[in-house]
Amino acid sequence: MFGKKLNFQLDATKLQYRNNMINYIFDIDGTLTQSRLPINPQFEVFYKNWIKGKNVYLVTGSDKEKTIEQIGEEIWSSVKRVYQSCGNQVWEKGILIRQKDFTLNIDIKNLLLQQLENSKWKEKFGNHLEERIGLVNFSIIGRNCPQNKREEYYEWDQKNHERIKICEMIMNKFPNVEASIGGQISIDIYQKGCNKAQVLEDILDPIYFFGDKMELGGNDYPIAHSLQQNNKNYKLFKVNNPDETWDFLKKI
Ligand SMILES: [Mg+2]
Repeated sequence: MFGKKLNFQLDATKLQYRNNMINYIFDIDGTLTQSRLPINPQFEVFYKNWIKGKNVYLVTGSDKEKTIEQIGEEIWSSVKRVYQSCGNQVWEKGILIRQKDFTLNIDIKNLLLQQLENSKWKEKFGNHLEERIGLVNFSIIGRNCPQNKREEYYEWDQKNHERIKICEMIMNKFPNVEASIGGQISIDIYQKGCNKAQVLEDILDPIYFFGDKMELGGNDYPIAHSLQQNNKNYKLFKVNNPDETWDFLKKI
């Protein structure tokens, strides 16, 4: 009798512990990897080990193919869930569990082409408009640019604020659409509300969120903002690069 009661108490404690487990959410570009580049091999070894036994979720504007190129299939399929296209396509242990579609209408497309034409940044490398599941990625310089030009554009954009201006223009002209800055050279465009914050419909407190673009206009802003507005038990880890993420994780 007594033994049974004790067992029940132990199980209840275990359940309580499980319910209080921290849910870790990570952005990828600029947070786990340099933008569009593979994860640092030493950090990869550390991270693979660190995620064991933890509730880890990844959320990125990228599609599945790019994410696997960057972090490898092992990490991609061993975390709890991966939210691609800002949460518009959701994978769990390698299985697609849901997705939302989004197509750019001709008026937005024309506006983007106009921006491409009129931009003060003159070097273009092709692959400017990439249609992903639930999201369209737009880049003035073009996704085919070499790494040095990618960095050059990023520096230039920091001073000239081209991407944020394009985002604002899109949202002013098309109120049903949302646009945000992701990575170094592009913006993400999706249905209003279909931003990274939608992952919070699935994930409960306590939440630790790691991202590099939490400022207004950045693609991590909707998560950070929603956590600040609606959640009680969360922590935001704003990082400038993957090394800072690594430093935080060593301390956790
Ligand atoms: Mg990022």
